[in-house]
Amino acid sequence: MNKYSSIDSLSVESNRMSAKRSFSDDQKITTDRVETHTRSVLDQVNTDKLRQNLTSLSKFHTRHSKSPLLNDVGDRIMNQLRGLGYKNCFYHFFNSTIDDKEYILRNIICNKEGFNKKLIIICAHYDCIMENKGDSNSRAPGANDNASGVSAIIEIARVLSNENLQHSIQFVLFSGEEQGLLGSKSYAKYIEDNKMDLYRLINLDMIGYPFFADNTIIIERDNNMDLNHNQVRENDLQSIVFGEVMKDLASEVNLKFHLDSIYDSDYEPFEANGHVVIGAYDGSADPKKNLHYHSSSDLPEFINWNYLTAVTKLVIATVLKIDSINSH
Ligand SMILES: [Zn+2]
Repeated sequence: MNKYSSIDSLSVESNRMSAKRSFSDDQKITTDRVETHTRSVLDQVNTDKLRQNLTSLSKFHTRHSKSPLLNDVGDRIMNQLRGLGYKNCFYHFFNSTIDDKEYILRNIICNKEGFNKKLIIICAHYDCIMENKGDSNSRAPGANDNASGVSAIIEIARVLSNENLQHSIQFVLFSGEEQGLLGSKSYAKYIEDNKMDLYRLINLDMIGYPFFADNTIIIERDNNMDLNHNQVRENDLQSIVFGEVMKDLASEVNLKFHLDSIYDSDYEPFEANGHVVIGAYDGSADPKKNLHYHSSSDLPEFINWNYLTAVTKLVIATVLKIDSINSH
């Protein structure tokens, strides 16, 4: 009796052990496969293409929101996204008053359909300014602010074009950021008006000129103590968790990270509507220390291409991670 029962309990124990072992092996295989796949996607990020995208945007004499040249810039970005095979792209038009004059401005929206309608927005502003904020005629190359973010988004769109993702992705380029987040305010309203299911948003504003510290990306979360930059408190924790996802991936692309809060960029209107947002930022929006900030000297020659490449990879890794976490 004792003998049998001890054999029974042994065999039960050993079954449990082997069940446990095979479960963890399966987990490991799944994790390895995901990581191997993510790695193969990240390897496709092409520094030359980032450089070409950024340089061609900076070659426009200005991308000031009041300049008719911004229409040419927008057309170029749109053509490039469509050229990547994205069929469902559109201009989101909105009216804005800048310096007492009415303008019709355009955001650029590019849809990548997923298995569900939950939306991940990856966004950046494509307008820029120089020293004199209202001057739409002088040279304004806006290489780091924010051709860097736009070039990353075009490259992310290229690399993800053949990926089947659970979530739908929108690549969004805003106009009128420098005049007070005009494009993102208007598009945040559009998201609400159309009852779209915005799950997460990543904003890229200045990601090519590591200024805070060498090779370090600032991950901005929705935990600003200044309530002007944190309208809703209920979404704060999820943003912090989202930031942790990006933080944990930084070493995978050989970046260091610094955690900070969202401040004065296109994520804010979405945050104000209760959405979960983060930003990636190089820390160079310091008019006292960075002489190129909002300057006619914000040129491609000051871009750190390896850094821009790494940040672009980090954004892709983060998107793939949240897409896989929430599909299981
Ligand atoms: Zn900017």
